[in-house]
Amino acid sequence: MTEETGWTEERLKMLKALWDEGLSISQIGQRLNVTRNAVAGKAHRLSLPKRQSPISSTAAPVRAKVKKTEEIADELPLRLALRKISWSRSKCVWPTGDPKTTDFSFCSKPIDPGKPYCFEHCVLAYTNTRESN
Ligand SMILES: [Zn+2]
Repeated sequence: MTEETGWTEERLKMLKALWDEGLSISQIGQRLNVTRNAVAGKAHRLSLPKRQSPISSTAAPVRAKVKKTEEIADELPLRLALRKISWSRSKCVWPTGDPKTTDFSFCSKPIDPGKPYCFEHCVLAYTNTRESN
């Protein structure tokens, strides 16, 4: 009755978790202290999504993780905003919105000559502005 590998509720959960993490069948086998075949057989019976070959599946999760990190970094509004500054020095860099949200951007109106901001924002930036008259 009992399978040679002795799958318990606990171990099945672990198998699924490790599988979801993208570990290779042999890596999962090592963690659960069962053979690769036992893992593969169990995964098949549980209808877990198909694994790639062991070689690519050991490399894939790492690549996927790196890619994800890059994507997140690229989505940082401030970082994007800073890039924007270097592209368009002729545009007002008055920040609008909350830097913590994706709404964050710059005013982008044509600047007041010699200033980093448009006229309107120069007035705001330099409270003792002499340009106002
Ligand atoms: Zn502006």
